[in-house]
Amino acid sequence: MTNVFLGIGGNLGDRRATMRRAVAEIRAVVEDVRVSSLYETAAWGVTDQPSFLNAVVRGRTELKALELLEAMQAIENQLGRVRTQHWGPRAIDIDILLYGSDVIDVPRLKVPHPYMAQRGFVLRPLADLAAGLTLPDGSLVGELLTTIDQDDLRQVEGLGWAD
Ligand code: ATP
Ligand code: CA
Ligand code: CA
Repeated sequence: MTNVFLGIGGNLGDRRATMRRAVAEIRAVVEDVRVSSLYETAAWGVTDQPSFLNAVVRGRTELKALELLEAMQAIENQLGRVRTQHWGPRAIDIDILLYGSDVIDVPRLKVPHPYMAQRGFVLRPLADLAAGLTLPDGSLVGELLTTIDQDDLRQVEGLGWAD
């Protein structure tokens, strides 16, 4: 079994309902799921689009990393994700943030997620679940969080919103 952390987010449609459905679908393939608080953030990268809801899911899986990616992409498709522009609006996005302490760099999958250390909407919910976690490069989640701007980030639900 491998410990995994997934970043989930979306900014189209009934965002909370979609986030809850995403967690429910993730529970079907990942065991011992725990979910961070729910956050709202202004869009990142491409900024002229609705704000996002974001959370982080932690769990354990028997799946290999690429199998996990395929399972998460199947959930994205099932929940109505339409792939348009990169960093554009979407009903749901599920990224693999961490897969154990593995470093993976193949065209379809880069782990740790390349931008996670710069994104408040990843680090803040990740710190809810694992502030003391060390990334493969030795950096500590709780310390990374102190280095980034959290002004655009607002907690909209505490722990338990996805139960
Ligand atoms: P970002 O990766 O910057 O958050 P994004 O989530 O909007 O951007 P997508 O369009 O969802 O990007 O994904 C593009 C491709 O990224 C996917 O088809 C997938 O193969 C690849 N990918 C690479 N690393 C990962 C990862 N850690 N988790 C999920 N997808 C990844
Ligand atoms: Ca993403
Ligand atoms: Ca993605």
